[in-house]
Amino acid sequence: MRSRGSWKIRILIGLAIVAFAYFNKCSNTETNPYTGREQHITMEPQEEIAIGLQSAPEMAQQHGGLYPDQRMQALVDAVGKKLVQNSVARETPYQYDFHLLADDQTINAFALPGGQCFITYALFSQLNEAQLAGVLGHEIGHVIGRHSAERIADSQYWQQVSMGASVGADAGSIIGAIGQNTLLKNGRGDELESDELGVLMMIQSGYDPYEMIEVMKILKSAAGPNRVPEFQSTHPDPENRIERIKEAIEKYQGA
Ligand SMILES: [Zn+2]
Repeated sequence: MRSRGSWKIRILIGLAIVAFAYFNKCSNTETNPYTGREQHITMEPQEEIAIGLQSAPEMAQQHGGLYPDQRMQALVDAVGKKLVQNSVARETPYQYDFHLLADDQTINAFALPGGQCFITYALFSQLNEAQLAGVLGHEIGHVIGRHSAERIADSQYWQQVSMGASVGADAGSIIGAIGQNTLLKNGRGDELESDELGVLMMIQSGYDPYEMIEVMKILKSAAGPNRVPEFQSTHPDPENRIERIKEAIEKYQGA
């Protein structure tokens, strides 16, 4: 009888934890003022900025540090700045920094929460200025879309749910830390939203948005028959993105 009783209590506590997690999730749902999309966020913009600034040196280190030629870095800065100043990014509280990484092997670009954006030399060296704007616009899109903060909130939610479940089931321990994977892992929806925001920023800054399609082709050919670039592992198939990019161009340019 005693063990049966504690079993019931565990189930109740487990359910209470899950219910609390769900309540939290609902009460932390807000509309992103820059994208208009409803999302589950538990973090203030200042915390996003702090996480990004704290992680930036480590991310640079993992890609061979910063690219030594300041003229190239200056071009990345100029294009990034232009995109911010001509778009809704200007109105956000984020601090945008655009880092050119020395890595000349890995085709990649990524953003940390709060405005720290990165592009490897391997990708940079294949792009013209408008295409660079497309890549940086896409990364700014991740920042504005608050995609990392959303992933962190999701992982906190699932940690709480799994805690509730494991208390209820009295099974195992809860392993979960907010790691690099959570920060950099973007869902398919995140990528498409960033592509669309990137296209809009290109148009607003006077760049030809069709160059974003060229970026996708470059990524596709960089993959080659045997080589899957890093960008691919965190980004969906370029071919699928091209269709959506065309739709975005018509939506924003036709208006
Ligand atoms: Zn992306």
